[in-house]
Amino acid sequence: MREPVIAYVGIGANLGDAVATVRGAIERLGSLPQSHVMKASSLYRTAPHDAQGPDFVNAVAQLQTGLEADELLAHLQEIEQEAGRERPYRNAPRTLDLDLLLYAADRIDGAKLTVPHPRMRERAFVLVPLSEIAPQEVTAAQLAAVSGQRIEALPPA
Ligand code: ADP
Ligand code: MG
Repeated sequence: MREPVIAYVGIGANLGDAVATVRGAIERLGSLPQSHVMKASSLYRTAPHDAQGPDFVNAVAQLQTGLEADELLAHLQEIEQEAGRERPYRNAPRTLDLDLLLYAADRIDGAKLTVPHPRMRERAFVLVPLSEIAPQEVTAAQLAAVSGQRIEALPPA
């Protein structure tokens, strides 16, 4: 078994009580086997990006985990399923989206899992919260490239 690694998970919700959904997801991440939430970003309100519906609420969590990347992805999908029961119609905006952004310094290119997440560098809703908790993972140029995307931090609970 490998030593625990640091992984970053992107969290997004835009249906129902999205703030409560994101907070609940961060708690659930902390209850995964062999895993702890080391840091959680602020919550951010963001404009929908390649998606329909109301504004999103986004955050990024830093996990220390002993799970393998594919095991972690399976748990993320299980948490999405738990939150998805109120999905009103097929392909509706999802109640909860959990993306594995980074897993240690690993590069994974599999059928079900690509890490680093291939679209994370295009998305202010990932880069801004990630830079809050892990500034070393995001460059100023990357942030500047997404500065046209609307995003605002929500006040702490
Ligand atoms: P997106 O998160 O880009 O809006 P989806 O959540 O609908 O898209 O995509 C889910 C699919 O993406 C899953 O089938 C999963 O296997 C695949 N996938 C590939 N890489 C990742 C990753 N790093 N994190 C989460 N899902 C991933
Ligand atoms: Mg996803």
